[in-house]
Amino acid sequence: MALTLLGQHNPLASPTEQLKLLGKTASYPPFEKQLDHIGLFPLRATGITVFQINVGKLCNQTCRHCHVDAGPDRTERMSQGTAEQCVQVLAKTDIPTVDITGGAPELNPNFRWLVEQSRALGRHVMDRCNLSVLLLPSQADLAEFLAGHRVEIVASLPYYRASQTDAQRGDGVFEKSVEALQRLNRLGYGRLDSGLTLNLVCNPVGAFLPPKQEAIESQFRKELRVRHGIEFNRLYTITNMPISRFLDFLLESGNYDQYMERLANAFNPAAAAGVMCRYTISVGWDGTLYDCDFNQMLDLPVSQRAPAHIRDFDTAQLNQRQITTRNHCYGCTAGAGSSCGGSVTS
Ligand code: SF4
Repeated sequence: MALTLLGQHNPLASPTEQLKLLGKTASYPPFEKQLDHIGLFPLRATGITVFQINVGKLCNQTCRHCHVDAGPDRTERMSQGTAEQCVQVLAKTDIPTVDITGGAPELNPNFRWLVEQSRALGRHVMDRCNLSVLLLPSQADLAEFLAGHRVEIVASLPYYRASQTDAQRGDGVFEKSVEALQRLNRLGYGRLDSGLTLNLVCNPVGAFLPPKQEAIESQFRKELRVRHGIEFNRLYTITNMPISRFLDFLLESGNYDQYMERLANAFNPAAAAGVMCRYTISVGWDGTLYDCDFNQMLDLPVSQRAPAHIRDFDTAQLNQRQITTRNHCYGCTAGAGSSCGGSVTS
């Protein structure tokens, strides 16, 4: 199995190194300048409707494009105490959606407790699932647990063919993903009127922008149905963010400058106005607060004028906070923007 950047002692495991590279913008304007140009700088939150919890970096896969640099060797994980602080905050607010991510979030011992507590508070819960985790012997009852709590599943599947999916996510991952999707379908997931939502997320396998969502969704639907009898609700496309392991891939393959230019040239003011950080708060495994999961991986916490940790959560202040932006944000504003399902990979 491939190693994480951290496991390889790759300098890009350091957010500081990544930000240094991303800060050089010879052939396109800094992201903030583009925002200013359309009257959106400084970017501000518009409220919080999604409470995203990243429970840590442990994963059973080591995908090539992972923005978390997650893998089996990562030890960062949310403690029970921090999970309890998350639930206390939820109980004090009316944030409607809880979006649980990782790594493979299901491997955190507090995952199921977080789901149960969030559901008991009446919140919609999303699980960002890599699918293969459902086949681990330790997770034999996971699919039933998710269905029992009516958790929306947002599952990563880069493509409907094995070669492209395995190239990005590891040998044999496509086959496991198909088996997991079939298992979810048998429980009612992805079936009309079951109330069990199964959304797929695909991202380009190389250094290019995602195709139009509607076209690729109908291709996925047809291919997965005909070849594997699989049904799903929606397919969302996401742009690969030029950070972490995808940044390493861009540099290794000599595509970095060209890819950044492509993102910057595709800047879309409407997508910028709707970026998810404006309605999301992202909680890190240690309780630190971020504007989004990407900023979390770059060690860019919420603005200094907002509370920095879950224990100091203050809805009024966070609702209007200034968002911390850098040049990786071009990944969210290119073309139609990057929609990741429900409200939105691991
Ligand atoms: S990377 Fe994060 S902060 Fe930047 S635009 Fe996207 S969601 Fe917002």
